[in-house]
Amino acid sequence: MHPVWLKTLLQHGALIVACVAVAALYDQAFYGFVAALAILLAWHIYHLFLLEQWLRTDEAGPLPSGDGPWSQVLARIRALQVRAKESRRAWVGLVKEVRASTKAFPDGGVVLNEDLEIIRGNKAARRLLGLKKKRDRGTRIDNLIRHPEFVQYLKDGSQKSSVEIPAPGNNDTWLSCRVIPYGMGQRLLLVRDISQSVRLARTRRDFAANASHELRSPLTVISGYLDAMTEDDQMPATWHGPLTDMRAQAERMGRLVQDLLQLAKLESSESCSRARAVSVEQIVATAQREVLATVQRARRFETQIESNAEILGEATELQSIVTNLISNAVRYSPDDSVVEVSWRTNENGGWLTVRDEGIGINADDLPRLTERFYRTDAARARQESGTGLGLAIVKHALRRHNAELEVTSEVGEGSEFVCQFPPDRIAAGANVVQLAG
Ligand code: ADP
Repeated sequence: MHPVWLKTLLQHGALIVACVAVAALYDQAFYGFVAALAILLAWHIYHLFLLEQWLRTDEAGPLPSGDGPWSQVLARIRALQVRAKESRRAWVGLVKEVRASTKAFPDGGVVLNEDLEIIRGNKAARRLLGLKKKRDRGTRIDNLIRHPEFVQYLKDGSQKSSVEIPAPGNNDTWLSCRVIPYGMGQRLLLVRDISQSVRLARTRRDFAANASHELRSPLTVISGYLDAMTEDDQMPATWHGPLTDMRAQAERMGRLVQDLLQLAKLESSESCSRARAVSVEQIVATAQREVLATVQRARRFETQIESNAEILGEATELQSIVTNLISNAVRYSPDDSVVEVSWRTNENGGWLTVRDEGIGINADDLPRLTERFYRTDAARARQESGTGLGLAIVKHALRRHNAELEVTSEVGEGSEFVCQFPPDRIAAGANVVQLAG
């Protein structure tokens, strides 16, 4: 037991004994005992009253003084008070530091609650998104950023890792927005200024488009002269071989220019309209005919159109996707092999698959297939006359249809290219676009 408590017990006992002894002189020992208890009770109530007053009025003020056990209790309260002050000071310091560091962030950060309402944002977020500290607190983020892609991104539960949109009210600034869920349903919106890389990509795209455009006219002239020279009977026989080679190269260059222009066009715009429904059966039939005519090789096609649902999008772009995939399947597989094309749909979307029994693709090459001019060593060895742009075109055309390309392959066994279309790009019946060919 702490000595204070021992002393208190002794003091209380001594007081009671003294009171009882004095009262006993008058033959009133019991009243003496009651009087002693009343004195002690009054003394404790007085100290409790002082403590309650102190707690009620100002906890930061000086503590009331107390004797005996009260000095012990008050000393403990004082120690707790000091400790609480210290930890509050530490927390305030930490919060200040966090605030200062988030202020210095070049990227924006906005804390959203489970209803997507703004709780707070840092300085960069206010600058990039044009938020106002007091005005926008508690406002839903999609009431302030109304870009359809951002709204869709929020709706999809952030399936994509990020979305790129122009800054609200400033089309010259491009932002990459990413939403990260945390805690109990809260979300953190991270915003990065990507204007510079968007401008660079635009410059590169414009350069490719302009250069290809400028190459078209001289190429037409060269091809014209080459055609005329080939048909000229007076041309010495020694020129026949070189002329054939020159015409083949001019044709290849023509295809390159055409593919580069197509790619630049696909890259320059985001998703395409859903206004028209395109029949998959038709585009597959047209692609098979076109490929057999241009590649001039016999192949056995197996076509399984399991659904009559159509794709909502651009007929020419969808045609280009299927033609490129079937052309690759034919060019990178042996003559006696089968090329399978299938189309199926369900409530989760549509799947267009092109499968071949060809040379296959190394696992290391798979992630790079859709890069411009990327060709595998096996493809180069076959000396196929491709431009190396076909799958880049497929990727961009699919992106404009909010679709994805998935490739699986085994070297020497064959490859499977699957185009996955989301459910909102699939339509049953209505407005089938008639394609030429
Ligand atoms: P290319 O004009 O060279 O065919 P693509 O962009 O269409 O260009 O294809 C890029 C590369 O991907 C090809 O060069 C080839 O190496 C590989 N590839 C594409 N499709 C297939 C396939 N079905 N089988 C094997 N390799 C393929």
